[in-house]
Amino acid sequence: MKFPPFGYLRPTGLPEACEMLAEEGARPLGGGQSLLPLMALRLARPRTLVDLGALEELVGTSRSVSAGEEVLEIGAMTTLSAVEHDRTACSAVPLLSRIVRFIGHPAIRHRGTLGGSIAHADPAAELPAACIALDASASIASRRGSRSERVEALVTGPYQTSLREDELVTGLCFPIRPGRRTGVWEVAPRPGDFALAGAICVVYPEHSGPAGAAVTFFGVQAKPSRVTLDVEGAAGEGGGRYFQDLADSLEGVLEDGHADDRFRRRLAAVAARRAFAAARGCPPEVGA
Ligand SMILES: Cc1cc2nc3c(=O)[nH]c(=O)nc-3n(C[C@H](O)[C@H](O)[C@H](O)COP(=O)(O)OP(=O)(O)OC[C@H]3O[C@@H](n4cnc5c(N)ncnc54)[C@H](O)[C@@H]3O)c2cc1C
Repeated sequence: MKFPPFGYLRPTGLPEACEMLAEEGARPLGGGQSLLPLMALRLARPRTLVDLGALEELVGTSRSVSAGEEVLEIGAMTTLSAVEHDRTACSAVPLLSRIVRFIGHPAIRHRGTLGGSIAHADPAAELPAACIALDASASIASRRGSRSERVEALVTGPYQTSLREDELVTGLCFPIRPGRRTGVWEVAPRPGDFALAGAICVVYPEHSGPAGAAVTFFGVQAKPSRVTLDVEGAAGEGGGRYFQDLADSLEGVLEDGHADDRFRRRLAAVAARRAFAAARGCPPEVGA
């Protein structure tokens, strides 16, 4: 299918990009892996694409201290593939490089960006769920100024976020938590396909964290959801029953041609149990 007509702008700095996005009908272009297919299908008709590809300041990873906590910051235009191989990201928050490998194929990961994945908010996408599981925040900019919002609040529904039309994501900020253990598991028809159901488990070190462990589901409901685990129940002999009950308690489970409510709950239970086992079996993060 042919694209609808659209204008194209390529700013070279963030203030210029913010000015361009303040114009009616303008929309940011990251790697184009989701937006361009939507345009070809006429499901999105931006008047102008503001290509963020020349904004070098939105690319790369760094460590810093924010509100007394060590954090990993990743620019929104950093590609999924760069995160997969980035040493700083791999050592500070190892789950990221592991989970990114589940996203599409290498060609998609070479173009697709972190900012685009968060802003697109596909319910089956791995990255928004990882951000929620890891307590990440998004940095957001517009002509009106900048702000930060936890990704858990930013993602409001399927393909929906709290971003205003003139706002763009400039980066993501992940707390570095030594001692944390993480595991991920997903069920997809073929490698690289979107997950029919997936789960990320975070087991916190005994001396910190809001709970002993939590699981974040993706591809199961309209948006990723995080649920606290009873570690004893999850790890005990009745673990299979425990995770099935957990999956059965989820509200608004998606139904489509691939999985009805009952089957998707079954997949979610399996994914959560395996993500929990993977987290318990992985070495604690050192954050170095
Ligand atoms: C065949 C195929 C398989 C795929 N499989 C998976 C998969 O398994 N898992 C998965 O998670 N994804 C998958 N994807 C999607 C892919 O990961 C996309 O790259 C990603 O969702 C969007 O990133 P992007 O940079 O390409 O964004 P774009 O397509 O450029 O933009 C997507 C949306 O985000 C907005 N946007 C882009 N950047 C910003 C920004 N910095 N600030 C604010 N808004 C912004 C755009 O305006 C648009 O609305 C797949 C895609 C394809 C084509």
